[in-house]
This record gives sequence, structure tokens and C-alpha cells, in this order.
Amino acid sequence: MTEGSVAVTVDAALVLRWMAEIATAVSSERDRLTALDAAIGDADHGVNLDRGFSAVRARIAEAAPATPGAALTVAGRTLISTVGGASGPLYGTAFREMGKSLGDGSDVDDAAFVTAVRAGLDGVRRLGAAAEGDKTMVDAYAPALAALEEAVRAGQPLATAAKSAAHAADDGARATVPLEARKGRASYLGARSIGHQDPGATSTALVFAALHRAAERR
Ligand code: ADP
Ligand code: MG
Repeated sequence: MTEGSVAVTVDAALVLRWMAEIATAVSSERDRLTALDAAIGDADHGVNLDRGFSAVRARIAEAAPATPGAALTVAGRTLISTVGGASGPLYGTAFREMGKSLGDGSDVDDAAFVTAVRAGLDGVRRLGAAAEGDKTMVDAYAPALAALEEAVRAGQPLATAAKSAAHAADDGARATVPLEARKGRASYLGARSIGHQDPGATSTALVFAALHRAAERR
């Protein structure tokens, strides 16, 4: 890439691949996510997300959205309508806000995509009122966004940037182990939530790893 040029790599096909990669990952990690939720919640996180993202995959194939924004909006709406539990509205809001932020362009540059990923996190924060350190998906999402942003600003290709984001999300998820939960069901346990990895932060790491695979496969 020449200096000053902006990579345009985000189209509807990328979002479709991303959602398909998430659906596959969530399905194969379903039992691990549910076991994490059994320790500090109600043992439904894997089941919730498996149901939600398989619906997303089906609904997107059916709707055949022409733009990445429309695809993300369909994904968000589907999660909100198919997933009971906190994570459905939270992930649903994240993807809907990404869709809204992208608008109706059919090809989006990487900087606009980063702005959309930030809008997704803002939506999660508005809805769930969790700050970093509260032992939620925000503890994986916030460092992932920071890594994505830094890499894209440095001119790295989206796949490389997403790989950094996935590592940062994974580190963030692991770092929830010693934290005490202050939001969601796990917060009912108080200090007994310490010593367990947050299920939502763990699934957020899968979401960014899926983005890496989707971006790599173009
Ligand atoms: P539920 O808690 O309703 O059973 P899930 O088990 O599907 O829903 O999801 C639990 C995850 O949702 C938690 O591990 C946490 O990461 C996330 N979560 C819960 N409440 C909040 C919140 N207020 N803000 C951000 N994330 C939250
Ligand atoms: Mg649960």
C-alpha cells in the first residue's frame, strides 16, 4: 500500500464470512462456553450463542444483504430476537451499531470499519453500563478494539490487525479470571466469582478470532 492510501477491504462478503466463522467457532466451543457460565452464571451462554449465530448465518444467507452495513444490521437484529439472556441484546446491539455506523456503502475502508467496531463497543457500554474491570465482554472487546485501531492506523492489512485484536481479546478474557464480577448474573456471586474466566469475554475473543479468519480468507 502506498503511503496515504486507505485499504478498502470490507464488503458484504467479508461480513458473511465473519458471521459464518463465528457460528462455526461458537458451535464447536459451545460446551466450553456453557461450562464457564455454569461456574458463575446459569449455564446457558454456549447454548444461547450457538442458537443465535446459527440463526444469523441462516438469516443472512436468506436476506443476501448487498452491503456490509446491512449484513451487520441483520445479524444484530437476529441476535436480539433469537437469544434470551443478557448476551443476545448486548451482541445484537454491538452488530446493529456497527451496521448503522457503516451506513449504506457497498465497500468500506478499514478506518471506517474500525469506527464501526468502536460504535459497537459504545452500544454495549450504553446498554450494559459495564466498565473495563467489571468482568464482562467489555474486558475483551475494549483491548481488541484498541489493538485493531492501532494496527489499522499503522497501515497494517485488516487480517493482520484482526489477528492482533484477537490476541488482545484473548488476553483480556484470561485477565478476567482474578476479577470480581460487578455486572450481570455473575455479580450475584460477589467474591465467589473470583477465579473463573468470564464466559462473555471468552466468546468475544472467539468473535475477533473469527474476524481474523474471515479477513485472511479474502
Ligand atoms: P445471561 O447472563 O442472561 O444468562 P449469557 O449467559 O448468555 O446471559 O451471557 C453472560 C455474559 O454476558 C457474561 O459472561 C458477560 O460477559 C455478559 N454480560 C452480562 N451482563 C453484562 C453487562 N451489563 N455488560 C456487558 N456484558 C455483560
Ligand atoms: Mg447465562
